[in-house]
Amino acid sequence: MNPPIRTTCAYCGVGCGISAIPTGSRSVEIKGDPAHAANLGKLCSKGTHLGETVGLEGRLLHPMIGKRRASWDKALDLVAKRFRDTVARHGPDSVAFYVSGQILTEDYYVANKLMKGFIGSSNIDTNSRLCMSSAVAGHVRAFGEDVVPATYDDLDAADLIVLVGSNTAWCHPIVYQRIQAAREKRGTKLVVIDPRRTETCEDADLHFAIRPGSDVALMNGLLAFCRDENLLDKDFLAASVSTPDEFWDMVGEGSDLWSVARTCDVPPADLRRFYDLFAANPRTVTMFSQGINQSLTGTDQVNAIINVHLATGRIGKPGAAPFSITGQPNAMGGREVGGLASTLAAHMDFAPENVARVGRFWGTLTVASKPGLKAVDLFRAVRDGRIKALWIMATNPAVSMPDANMVRDALADCPFVVVSDMIADTDTTRFAHVRLPAAGWGEKDGTVTNSERRISRQRAFLPLPGEARPDWWALKEVAARMGWRTAFAYNNAADIFREHARLSAYQNGGARLFDLGAQAAIGNDDYEAMEPFLWGGTPFADGRFPTPDGKARLVTVRQASLASPLTDWPLTLNTGRYRDQWHTMTRTGLSPRLARHREQPLVEVHPYDCETFDLNDGDIARVATAQGESLFRVLKSEGQRPGEIFTPIHWTDQQSSGGRTGLLPRPLTDPYSGQPGFKSTPARIKKVAIEWRGFLIVRGEAPAWPPSLWATKITVPGGALYELVGEGDATLLESCLPNGLRVEAVDKAKGSHRIAILNEGRLSAVLFVTREGELPSRDWLIAQLSEPQASAMLLAGRAPGAQPDRGAVICVCFDIGLKTIVAAIADQRLTDVAAIGKSLGAGTNCGSCRPALARILAEFLEEKVHAAE
Ligand code: SF4
Repeated sequence: MNPPIRTTCAYCGVGCGISAIPTGSRSVEIKGDPAHAANLGKLCSKGTHLGETVGLEGRLLHPMIGKRRASWDKALDLVAKRFRDTVARHGPDSVAFYVSGQILTEDYYVANKLMKGFIGSSNIDTNSRLCMSSAVAGHVRAFGEDVVPATYDDLDAADLIVLVGSNTAWCHPIVYQRIQAAREKRGTKLVVIDPRRTETCEDADLHFAIRPGSDVALMNGLLAFCRDENLLDKDFLAASVSTPDEFWDMVGEGSDLWSVARTCDVPPADLRRFYDLFAANPRTVTMFSQGINQSLTGTDQVNAIINVHLATGRIGKPGAAPFSITGQPNAMGGREVGGLASTLAAHMDFAPENVARVGRFWGTLTVASKPGLKAVDLFRAVRDGRIKALWIMATNPAVSMPDANMVRDALADCPFVVVSDMIADTDTTRFAHVRLPAAGWGEKDGTVTNSERRISRQRAFLPLPGEARPDWWALKEVAARMGWRTAFAYNNAADIFREHARLSAYQNGGARLFDLGAQAAIGNDDYEAMEPFLWGGTPFADGRFPTPDGKARLVTVRQASLASPLTDWPLTLNTGRYRDQWHTMTRTGLSPRLARHREQPLVEVHPYDCETFDLNDGDIARVATAQGESLFRVLKSEGQRPGEIFTPIHWTDQQSSGGRTGLLPRPLTDPYSGQPGFKSTPARIKKVAIEWRGFLIVRGEAPAWPPSLWATKITVPGGALYELVGEGDATLLESCLPNGLRVEAVDKAKGSHRIAILNEGRLSAVLFVTREGELPSRDWLIAQLSEPQASAMLLAGRAPGAQPDRGAVICVCFDIGLKTIVAAIADQRLTDVAAIGKSLGAGTNCGSCRPALARILAEFLEEKVHAAE
């Protein structure tokens, strides 16, 4: 057996360590790394199933110029020439890079150096702008530097954890499990503040669903309460915090319990309970995520949270800190190298002395002297023609940017677009003039930094397929062709890491906490063997902050006025992630198991709004905003506040024919961070009349999207499952069926038509369509794709005596559905999650479904109580 290779998960900012054991040329066994401090051997459902995503399906394996394969030399020559010519004719700000929290720190470093140091523009921004740039801006305003003042150990030491705007159970599952473990072990209290009642709330002592965007009022109210109750740390405030003159007057404005409760639209009793919990537990961690950051007032919301921690001295001590948790695996690495347009490099801004220092270090006189265009403005500049050459790396802005249709128009008109990606066909690569094949997870070497500042190695355990190359290599080759060969003479990732570490320490003198000087001389072997390590230790433990006077800053932040619903747009659209999908599904979409958790993009609607807009569970609805419209399947949800709806960010044109969310949000941003406000777009919803429903299961993939009003696709073992709805002539769907022996059944009364296609006795495809009747569960038919001989019962949709439909899959590790779980609870009188695990195994592997099991159990018991009443 091959020895395990220690690496890091490809997905979220928790940054779990992975032990990867290659089992074949493109297969690997994935386990959690018990020695990695971020996860201590655990993995969530996404990490657990990483092995299903390392195949070569859909890979871009060769450079492409237009639709033609090209050599690397030819492609790199073209990229270098077009960038060089564009800069020569239109100046350095006429070109841009748009990169990603998915690339490694070494890739990021070279991209940033090339753009800011040698091309001489700061037009390099990253999809991390969409994720946590408000936290960056808030940290800089409060601390003088973008330093996350917490680690996961603080979660173990805290007595109270407050989660604000974070569905931690789905988006950072291993952190959530750590919180649950602390609760079991130490009785840690948990408060969740979120407009939605998510699975994160299942285990909480208190959840309150505040009005979106009212977080500043909430935190200012808490601060006023702390002042009135003598909870301020006066010594710390005097020694370590600078307070603006008007600060406490501002805090007093409208901060009484009743006013705050009214602004936040929460019961005063809940608010008071939260205040009391905060008062009783000085060891408090306030962890926040996209619900805070992705707001038009995100930076103020971050500072409102930090203000409370600074004023009460809950920072720099074990179990006490504000804690921004990042979405992506290397958003933090990007922040460290300066991969955002608003920072220069190594936590330095564009102050003249920093520009001069970085220029000396890089040996260049052309360092950019001012910030560049942030993501939304960058794509506006592409659309306006100000940016004429754009290089996109490892991200899919045609789906993920707000007002994504505007981004598509911009890309379509851009004179020169380069896309580096591991996937050949994405919604973004279709706009590329040049596509460069990038190394994927499992093939690339370098480092990533997780949410707690822990730098870990990502190690290759698979060979580079085709002509795929690391991003840093493509960047340095372009730099060399643009005339800067010597400055980019890297032989490997270790060369780049050493330079990055040296720059962080160069003439630092303690001015910046980000200082990797201890790693600056690391040898290649030591780099290879490098253990995960934290930089920055316990920041601010000595009460000193990286500001000119050594003090942190309380920042005056006022609650912005909250818009009322508009007549034409009576709803507010919130967007976010699903538990088992990642970004635009280019990787998680390859995993049949992960696909089963949520198979279609749903719009979650409160029952009250369902009644108002005549919607039922399972209907298809058109969600429209001023930017565009998309179709989603309706899920009635008590977890939504009335007037607010939620859609997932993941679906693209590759997985649906109209379920994209990114085109809906406004391209409006926070004034300090430039982060878009994804969480509050005025919207409306309308039921879509459909005449038929159906599904197609096909070996491999259908040659084209089935002609329908709306279709979604997921990967299943051996093929693909398309869910279909439409109007008019459903027989047009038959154009998607492969050739072969055709068997069919028609029920004219119900308008049902069932067709199976067989080849050499094996199932090639089934198409079931109905106007009035029921459709069978897909599970048994999907399993038929793997059978050597198709069953004679195909058109019945299930084998005689087969198990009933198991329902939506809850536990993807053991493939256990909702109906199976409910039946076990009822039949065996199960009363806790552990008992469900003992009976069915559900929740006993990665544990990601445990919050869902708790919810199912609670709902079942509640229904029983109601039935008894
Ligand atoms: S929590 Fe899950 S997705 Fe995030 S790093 Fe860990 S295993 Fe990966």
